[in-house]
Amino acid sequence: MSLAIHWFRRDLRFEDHRALQAALAGDHPVLPLFIFDTGLLAALKNPHDARVAFIHRTLASLKETARTHGSDLLVRVGDPVEVWAALLGEFPVAAAYAAEDYEPAARRRDGAVARLLAEKGIPFNLVKDQVLFAKDEVVKGDGKPYTIYTPYSRSHLARLTESDLAEAPIGRSLRRLHKTGNKPLPFPALADLGFKDGTIAIPPIRLEGPRLAAYGERRDRMDVDGTTRLGVHLRFGTVSIRRAMRAAMPKSDVFAKELVWRDFFSQILYHFPRVEAHSFHEVGDRVAWRRDPGGFRAWCEGRTGYPLVDAGMRELAETGHMHNRVRMVAASFLTKHLLIHWKEGQAWFARHLLDFDLASNNGNWQWAAGTGCDAAPYFRIFNPAAQAKRFDPEGIYVRRWVAELGTSAYPQPIVEHEAARNRVLAAWGKARET
Ligand SMILES: Cc1cc2nc3c(=O)[nH]c(=O)nc-3n(C[C@H](O)[C@H](O)[C@H](O)COP(=O)(O)OP(=O)(O)OC[C@H]3O[C@@H](n4cnc5c(N)ncnc54)[C@H](O)[C@@H]3O)c2cc1C
Repeated sequence: MSLAIHWFRRDLRFEDHRALQAALAGDHPVLPLFIFDTGLLAALKNPHDARVAFIHRTLASLKETARTHGSDLLVRVGDPVEVWAALLGEFPVAAAYAAEDYEPAARRRDGAVARLLAEKGIPFNLVKDQVLFAKDEVVKGDGKPYTIYTPYSRSHLARLTESDLAEAPIGRSLRRLHKTGNKPLPFPALADLGFKDGTIAIPPIRLEGPRLAAYGERRDRMDVDGTTRLGVHLRFGTVSIRRAMRAAMPKSDVFAKELVWRDFFSQILYHFPRVEAHSFHEVGDRVAWRRDPGGFRAWCEGRTGYPLVDAGMRELAETGHMHNRVRMVAASFLTKHLLIHWKEGQAWFARHLLDFDLASNNGNWQWAAGTGCDAAPYFRIFNPAAQAKRFDPEGIYVRRWVAELGTSAYPQPIVEHEAARNRVLAAWGKARET
């Protein structure tokens, strides 16, 4: 009997899921699939990468749920196109489903899989699930993509209807999963993938009313636990964006607008894939960025002599998270005080952030560097001391991460604020003239 395959990628849940809902409503029983992409795994440098351990754990729980419905989760390891080619020889696949992914590499991968399936006459249904609005759904009057957040956000929120936010229930339709029999399908151990358990804990999904109601007032403070830590769950799809927005709507406009930033950067990357490696504004590629391995290392290790920057970088290394405002300050420090290319910072964050997402990371780095679509102007140079004073007035956050502050063990500043400011302004002045 033929079956449909739902290919899980960054949508690891059995609830409120548009692509899976479409698969389960189709003509065939559905076998869920996950592929550990060896190309992606090989690029990860840390065997304790908490993200891989989190994916692995989440898959184990999806498998358990599937098993309770007489089905299973098929897990394969390899190059996705090769895995699919093999699957077509093993299973009578009649249709394939997945949540649409908008990143350049994912689009290339999905294009290759779609061609492979099309050769056999199998439809590959890509369903919008990970964003509220994708591609050309929110564009300017002339049909061109928005490149400035404020009008995008206005238009996005004005368009948003109940049906865009409606839950796509899965529950009972799990009965339509393909029955795999009593014997569980093989499930690779983390060690088989070359990884070990992460030492970093993943925060739970936190969308409680009081947290969201106080979000607007508290989110900028580094010394309080005022944000949701939802990033990692949105990244891997363990929570749906619709659920997050439904929770935001009655409680906090500010929170809703933060979620819109995520859609904004997703559509920027979709329409302008070159931003992955190039500045959105070409002038950014003409800036004489410095090669400074020593300065870069000090920044990575949290030894710049600027307490707020160092606190953020240490928080990142230890927890895989950094408060948004500290991310802004740390990114500004690297690209402005040290005049080091945003791509170096982008890569470091990509390695360490639990919630690393290409579109959001790239968009925010370019914003901070002054090279992006809707960027902080190049002459806006965060003063880390002033930021700390305002958003961590008693130094609680900084002391949590920089225990040796005030002792001789703490390094002297590696650059002087005013001199650094003059240097970056001069470099930008030159780039703008050429
Ligand atoms: C240099 C830099 C790099 C960043 N890299 C990433 C990244 O790789 N992945 C990522 O999800 N966010 C990134 N951000 C945005 C933001 O810092 C994080 O989304 C946020 O800190 C995550 O913590 P939270 O879930 O507690 O956020 P909350 O304040 O609780 O916000 C809830 C959700 O809204 C979304 N959101 C909030 N702010 C932004 C924003 N500025 N841009 C896009 N989405 C936003 C996120 O999905 C976030 O999880 C980056 C910001 C900067 C300045």
